[in-house]
Amino acid sequence: MTKTYDLIVVGGGFAGAAAALAAARQGLDVLIVEKSNCFGGAAANNLVSPFMGYWTTDPETKERIYLSNGIFREILDGLDEMGALTQGGTLFHEEYLKILLQRMLLKEKVEVLFLSYLTGAIVRDDRIVAITVANKEGTQEYAARYFIDATGDADLAVRAGFPTTLGREKDHLCQPMTLCFRVAGVDLEKFEKSRSTINPLYQQFQREGKIKNIREDVLIFHNMVNGVLHFNSTRIVKRNPVNAMDKTLAELEAREQVLELFQFLKENIDGFQNSQLLMTAMEIGVRESRMIIGDYVLNQDDLIACTKFDDAVICGNYDIDIHNPEGSGTSHYYFKPGQYYTVPYRCLYPIGSRNLLVAGRCISSTHEAQASYRIMPFCCCLGEAAGAAAAICAKNNSDVAAVDLAALQSYLKAQKLIF
Ligand SMILES: Cc1cc2nc3c(=O)[nH]c(=O)nc-3n(C[C@H](O)[C@H](O)[C@H](O)COP(=O)(O)OP(=O)(O)OC[C@H]3O[C@@H](n4cnc5c(N)ncnc54)[C@H](O)[C@@H]3O)c2cc1C
Repeated sequence: MTKTYDLIVVGGGFAGAAAALAAARQGLDVLIVEKSNCFGGAAANNLVSPFMGYWTTDPETKERIYLSNGIFREILDGLDEMGALTQGGTLFHEEYLKILLQRMLLKEKVEVLFLSYLTGAIVRDDRIVAITVANKEGTQEYAARYFIDATGDADLAVRAGFPTTLGREKDHLCQPMTLCFRVAGVDLEKFEKSRSTINPLYQQFQREGKIKNIREDVLIFHNMVNGVLHFNSTRIVKRNPVNAMDKTLAELEAREQVLELFQFLKENIDGFQNSQLLMTAMEIGVRESRMIIGDYVLNQDDLIACTKFDDAVICGNYDIDIHNPEGSGTSHYYFKPGQYYTVPYRCLYPIGSRNLLVAGRCISSTHEAQASYRIMPFCCCLGEAAGAAAAICAKNNSDVAAVDLAALQSYLKAQKLIF
């Protein structure tokens, strides 16, 4: 152990990258630790794309009111400048995202440690003083005054001894895991004409036992590369995403589903005759796993009531989009034009935490609430809020629960993360 950073962020997804950036811009000496070889998190490692909607529509003027701004807006602008953003600011090219994020972070002198897996936390006097990571050098310790857990799975919170919940309350089942994949060489004109025939035939094949995948339909998105389609359509249920053996079994089963789906398309759907299976994601995508238990637990009623909390840090309105944790089907609750909810700061740290903040899809919430705020734009804003909070706490030497809320909200208002 050589030095003590002001802040260590674990996880380089949208939440972690934005947290590190926000804190470094406020003058903190920041280290970011990531188990893969790049930034972008689910977008990079799990091939998740596109951005789900990060705006509401003014019911009268019909104009877009953007809810996710600040660093997320900078990322959108950066992608746009690189020619890596299309379809109204939703479809992006993840290879450009990776390089854009690394440039943004290196510009702010954030220290980066890739290919390093968080393995533990050293806690003294109720404070995390250091983390341990495993990499090619063995096990190493890194010390800091503050920490942000942006692992998606609340790994650091667990290692530090904070309790978490898993999935839905009644049986702890999580939303399904999905191994995304891409198909190249598709004749897109023919595909558009045959698109409406895919689901009826897929469902017929399911009834006949020729398709084993339990997902109700085939979920297809366009891609920025010509002739390539993106599939978010495998479905693994009743497996625990933070149990190593369960996740391994999920990977094995999902890969069989990929081939099953690809062969179905190639053999039966016009436009796929000359297509090739291009790639599967480096890792199966986890929609939901552990959530911390914070000073407040965000729930579905808060969202439906469009609650504006006094300690709001971000706004959200993506539908409560629950892919059935037990089998087929997906349920939705849609917000009306002009409606949005907020997420309170109290969801961003575990009860009793002195110097640990949490950002991204594992903040303190129920299964139902997580189904809405989990999308990339909102996770990015949660990260920015956590990074800004860490900077304010570091300046005041305060525990995270005692953040100067006025200072934090003044920053967030200036960044248009809250209104
Ligand atoms: C299949 C699927 C489809 C989705 N579809 C969409 C969509 O279309 N649009 C949308 O906007 N959102 C979508 N989402 C949701 C969204 O992608 C995620 O909820 C969001 O990216 C979470 O951001 P995050 O920063 O909290 O976590 P992540 O993006 O998961 O980032 C966490 C990072 O931490 C790293 N990490 C984890 N554990 C450790 C460890 N122990 N040590 C070191 N590093 C670690 C990981 O490698 C990763 O880079 C989808 C998610 C899935 C799984």
